[in-house]
Amino acid sequence: MSDAAAARSGALSVLDVDLDAIAENYLILKKKLNAGCDCAAVVKADGYGLGAVPVAQALFAQGCRHFFVATAAEGLALRPGLPPSALLYVLNGPWGATHSDFTAAGLVPVLNTPEDIAYWTRAAQTQGRRLSALVQIDTGMNRLGLSAADAVEMLEADFFKTLDIRCVMSHLACADDPAHPKNGEQLALFLAAAARLPTPCRLSLSNSAGIFLGPEYHFDLARPGCGLYGISPLSVGENPLRNPVRLRARILQTRRIDRLETVGYGATYTVVPPVKCATISAGYADGYLRCLSGRGHVFIHGEKCPVIGRVSMDTIMADVTDLKRECQAGDWAEIIGPHQTADAVAAQAGTIGYEILTSLGARYERNYIRT
Ligand SMILES: *Cc1c(COP(=O)(O)O)cnc(C)c1O
Repeated sequence: MSDAAAARSGALSVLDVDLDAIAENYLILKKKLNAGCDCAAVVKADGYGLGAVPVAQALFAQGCRHFFVATAAEGLALRPGLPPSALLYVLNGPWGATHSDFTAAGLVPVLNTPEDIAYWTRAAQTQGRRLSALVQIDTGMNRLGLSAADAVEMLEADFFKTLDIRCVMSHLACADDPAHPKNGEQLALFLAAAARLPTPCRLSLSNSAGIFLGPEYHFDLARPGCGLYGISPLSVGENPLRNPVRLRARILQTRRIDRLETVGYGATYTVVPPVKCATISAGYADGYLRCLSGRGHVFIHGEKCPVIGRVSMDTIMADVTDLKRECQAGDWAEIIGPHQTADAVAAQAGTIGYEILTSLGARYERNYIRT
């Protein structure tokens, strides 16, 4: 098959996920932890959009045994992909599946409220055995977890004996900013809660960014997510992690425009003629956010090209006038990759890399590669 024929019949857009880069990021994060602190992997939202099963399998092979998902449905989808020795925790708690479905799949819920604790204790009575759970204490995020008052009451209650509490956890609100006073406040509240536990228990506080706050934030189990996927856990300074994502889409058409004309919906962008413009096969339905209209960039033949006019559902247009090497239909435009990370695209869109990755659409051909 000729190159042109291959381009025409092949994938229109391709997402390559480098599992070795993700495994390496896991090792970089793990190496920063205190001896004796386990490193979990947060694979919620389908592994931050990159595929929970292949990511978790690659990390299991790297020695990871603790995996966090957000919901029971995510846990049930991931379970068959992992050996029984993998421990799966459900952050949003014992919702969305029966307690017997939870336990049959070995899903361990995070108990966030007194009602969660009462429910899981009753489930243990019904099943006639000690059920496992994690308990979350809120230390200032005010999202999920027992309030300070509830924690005092609950932690002194009997459930610690009736349930097998694997770990007591909390979540940091500002860990990406090491100078933020909230970090120290949350740490102090967490230590105070830990000191009141009726029996010694494993503790977990840090997400990716928390790992970089220092050893006093590590405890027994760290829970990195974003760093595994190459999103920088640090709001300033160089990203210590590798980018595992490469996202490319084909150019479908190029055109020269020699007159004052507009490009795209709403006629919001007027060219400065003469220009050459390329139409690329990815749009907001693929997670190329519409707010990138007139603000995003793609790379063609390694050169930066501005996205012009509005982002459409299935296409974007880029100004390719100044390319040293001319492009044509069938060539690739890089959306995320060696030239620009998900964080860079996020900066153009006024959001965070997490949102760029978890918005990645279903139309990409997905390849899991090892480098
Ligand atoms: C998402 C999440 C994490 C992972 O956070 P990152 O910033 O992606 O490292 C850890 N813990 C909890 C409770 C979370 O919700």
